[in-house]
Amino acid sequence: MNIAVIGGGASGMIAAVISKRSGNDVTVFEHMPRVGKKLLLTGNGKCNISNTDMDPGHFHSGDLERVKNVLEKYPPARTLAFFEELGLRIRDRGGYLYPYSENASAVVDALRFSIRDLGIDVMTGADVLSVSKVMNGNDRSAEGRFVISSNDRHYHFDCVIICTGSCAQRNTGSDGSGYNLAKRFGHTIIKPLPALTYLTCEEDFFPSIAGIRTRAAISMFMGSSVNSCTDLCGVEVGELQLTKTGISGIPVFNLSHIAIKALDEGRFVRAVIDLVPDIPSEDIRSYMKDRLAKIGTRTVEEMLIGVLAKTLGICVCKRCGLDLRRSCSSLSENDIAKVCRMLKQFEVTVKGHGSFENAQVSQGGVSLEEVDDNLESRLVSGLYFAGEILDVFGDCGGYNLQWAASSAMAAAYAAALASQIG
Ligand SMILES: Cc1cc2nc3c(=O)[nH]c(=O)nc-3n(C[C@H](O)[C@H](O)[C@H](O)COP(=O)(O)OP(=O)(O)OC[C@H]3O[C@@H](n4cnc5c(N)ncnc54)[C@H](O)[C@@H]3O)c2cc1C
Repeated sequence: MNIAVIGGGASGMIAAVISKRSGNDVTVFEHMPRVGKKLLLTGNGKCNISNTDMDPGHFHSGDLERVKNVLEKYPPARTLAFFEELGLRIRDRGGYLYPYSENASAVVDALRFSIRDLGIDVMTGADVLSVSKVMNGNDRSAEGRFVISSNDRHYHFDCVIICTGSCAQRNTGSDGSGYNLAKRFGHTIIKPLPALTYLTCEEDFFPSIAGIRTRAAISMFMGSSVNSCTDLCGVEVGELQLTKTGISGIPVFNLSHIAIKALDEGRFVRAVIDLVPDIPSEDIRSYMKDRLAKIGTRTVEEMLIGVLAKTLGICVCKRCGLDLRRSCSSLSENDIAKVCRMLKQFEVTVKGHGSFENAQVSQGGVSLEEVDDNLESRLVSGLYFAGEILDVFGDCGGYNLQWAASSAMAAAYAAALASQIG
C-alpha cells in the first residue's frame, strides 16, 4: 500500500516512520523548505517532548473520551520507546521529558535521519492544495484511491494521513490550510482560536509593573457583563509574568484558551490573582499585622518590599487608595484589610490576547466526533488525521508533542493494519 503523509511536522514524521516500518511505501508532503521547523522552537529550543503525568485534565477537546482512548493505547512509554529506537536518549526533569541533550534539533535529527535511512520519500516545497478520493471514475485502477494535488501535479495513494497542524505560528508552515483539506471531505472544523498565549488587560498600571515575575495563583472568571464575571472556569498556580499590556507566563498560558473562547463568544473575563498563594487567606491578616509591628516605621511605599517586587507592592498600595508617603504605623484596620484583600484578590479585566502568531497552539480543529479511536475519518475510509489539526490541545509541559506522537501512532498503525487486511 502507498501512504501519503501531508505535513512534515512532529506528527507527520512519526507517522511516516511507523508507516514505512510497517512495510508501506510512504511519501511525506511538506510545503516548507525543510521538515520539523516548529519542533525546533519547542520548549525554548529544548523540546519538552512529553510528561510522566498524563492526567486527562491536561488535555482539552470537544471529545475528551476519545483523547483518553488514544493516550491509553499509546502512552508516553510508547513515545519514549519509539524515540529510544531512533537513538534519542530521554532526560526526565521532575516528570518533564526532554531529549538528553536538551536540544530540540536532536529530536528533529533523530526523525530526519530515520526517514532518510528508511528511504521515505520526502517532498519539501510541496504545498498540498487538495485531496480527493476517486469514486466512479473513468480509470478503474484509480477507483477508491486518493488524489493529491501539489505543485501542479497529481499523485495517487491508497491512504492519506493529514498531519498539517493548526494555524499557530504560520512562519513554521502551520497556516491552517489542512482545515480546508478536511472540509472538502465534509469534516466539521471546530472554530480554531489561539491557545497557550498571553492575555491583555484593561488596567493602565501594567507598564509600571512590566517585567516582574512572581509566584501566583490565578483564577479565571467569566460572565455576561463586566460586573457579573462570577463563573469560575479555571485556576492555575505558577510563575506569573507581568507585561506592559497584561499577564503572561505558564499559568496564564494554561488558562488562556478559556478566556479567548469566552471573549470570542462576547462574554466578559476577569482574572483574580492571589499574589501571595503561600499565605492562606485565614492567615493573611495576622501575617500583615505581625509584619507591620516589625516594620511600622517604614512608609507605605516600602511596606511590601520583601514580599513582592517593589513596583508591584507600590501598585497594590495605590490600588488600595493609600498615600505612599504615609507611615505604616498610621494605617487603620480598614486600610490593612484593604491591603490583605488586594494581595489575595488582585483583580484584572481581560480584554484581549496574543494572536495565532504568538500562540503555541490552536484550540479547535477537526471534530473528534467524526473520527474513530484510530483517528480514521468516519466519513471517508482510508483518510486519517494526527496531531494538532484535530480538536485537541494540551497544557504546557510536553502534552502537545505527546498528543502529536500518540495520535500519529494511532493513525499509522491503523493504516498499516488496514493495508495488511486489504
Ligand atoms: C514556540 C512553541 C513552543 C512549543 N513548545 C512545546 C513543548 O515544549 N512541548 C510540547 O509538547 N509542545 C510544544 N509546542 C506545541 C507543539 O509544537 C505542536 O503542538 C506540535 O508541533 C504539533 O505537531 P503537528 O505535527 O500536529 O503540527 P506541526 O508541527 O505544526 O507540523 C505541521 C506541518 O505541516 C506542514 N503543512 C501544513 N499545511 C500543509 C500543506 N497544505 N501542504 C504541505 N505541508 C503542510 C507545515 O509546514 C508543518 O511542517 C510548542 C509550540 C510552539 C509554537
